[in-house]
Amino acid sequence: MAFGFGKKREDVHDEDDDEEEEEVDLVNFQGALNGKTADMAANARLVQAALRPTKDLITDGLERRAETIRVDIKGERAQTSLSIDGMPFAGGRMPKPQALAVTQMLKVLCGLDARLKGRHQSGGVKAEFQGTKYELSVEISPQPDATERLMIRVRNLSHKLETPSDLGFSEALRQTIRDLTSHRHGLIICCGMPGSGVTTTTYAVLRGIDVYLYSIYSIAKTSRELLNIKQFEVLPNDDLQTSMMRMIREEADVIFVDPIRDAETLQQIFSVADRICVVSEMQAKDCSNAIEQLVQWSGDRQQASELIDGVFSQKLVRLLCNQCREAFRPNPKLLEKVGLPPETKVLYRKGEPAVDEKTGEEDDPCEKCGGVGFYGRMAMIETIIMTDPLRKLIAEGAPVDQLKALARTEGCLTFHKDGLRLVAEGKTSLEELQRVFKG
Ligand SMILES: [Zn+2]
Repeated sequence: MAFGFGKKREDVHDEDDDEEEEEVDLVNFQGALNGKTADMAANARLVQAALRPTKDLITDGLERRAETIRVDIKGERAQTSLSIDGMPFAGGRMPKPQALAVTQMLKVLCGLDARLKGRHQSGGVKAEFQGTKYELSVEISPQPDATERLMIRVRNLSHKLETPSDLGFSEALRQTIRDLTSHRHGLIICCGMPGSGVTTTTYAVLRGIDVYLYSIYSIAKTSRELLNIKQFEVLPNDDLQTSMMRMIREEADVIFVDPIRDAETLQQIFSVADRICVVSEMQAKDCSNAIEQLVQWSGDRQQASELIDGVFSQKLVRLLCNQCREAFRPNPKLLEKVGLPPETKVLYRKGEPAVDEKTGEEDDPCEKCGGVGFYGRMAMIETIIMTDPLRKLIAEGAPVDQLKALARTEGCLTFHKDGLRLVAEGKTSLEELQRVFKG
């Protein structure tokens, strides 16, 4: 099993049963997020038994770039599952007592109450691995069989806020962002489903604004550092509308607000959006569905049609591992079927490990991706940038399908078109595109 966690490390451990110099790089824990000191001395026996397996578990997850690490106890065994680039993968197994000890160890490391069992607890711990800093959010949930389920969410702190070009936005799309925000008017919304990277797109849109020409104010509660954006201080008794009025008086050009989740917030935004450009995010499957929801919240189709200026949505697609992707010459029929230009000379697909001709055995999996074939993800972007015909259709209360169809003829970017661009550029495969569209 290529992905058994800690196999290599266990061997090392078994061979030198003492505390000899470690040959492998393991995660370092650097303090609980709640600021409490982990009392290692009072838990010496637990530390002795469980610190190393805990480090092995986390190290394997970080090495494989997992977003989540989950440990489920079934009978006398525990199974680890990882989510990597949004896909589930099996991690290692361990005996039930070890899984219980690891859970206890993480409670101590997170400054939680280790004596408390059978109750929901959550916390976090800072970690460092191979020069990169992480925050691990730990959630412990009681299970019906009196065990506890361990869920660890990984946040890589080195992931900086990305610009539109970091995210691979086309020059046309970057120009669209600059145009939209220059109007001192209207709502720009980024939408997506949870976990689809919508916040990343929102920040990219914000970073696509020319900060030398326009002053951007943020009223959003965010822990991320926003470059060149002025964090606005909300007065104790001010609601959103009042605060936005104050920002307009301070000559803001663009205001960044927290995600829109209800009619009340939207109506407050709409009450000022004829004088200022507002950027926000919301949950929706795609751009036309977001518009439908905004119209409903607004309660005034005409107003919504005038004040929504642009909607962006994204779906994440996995990127082919550039170490092991395989080039192939696509036949003309395939190109026609999927809608790629007939002159396309080369496309790429997921690499398969080479098979030794003599022995018939597979070669070792790719070192970079571990044989998964993919490494990292990228957003496919869909847009609806308002034009007069689109505004008219919204004001008339046309159904989502009609809006979608018109957006296409009005030259808006579709997931399909942007996805094919990534295929043509060799960044992803047709199979991966199909998987995302099916999901
Ligand atoms: Zn690879």
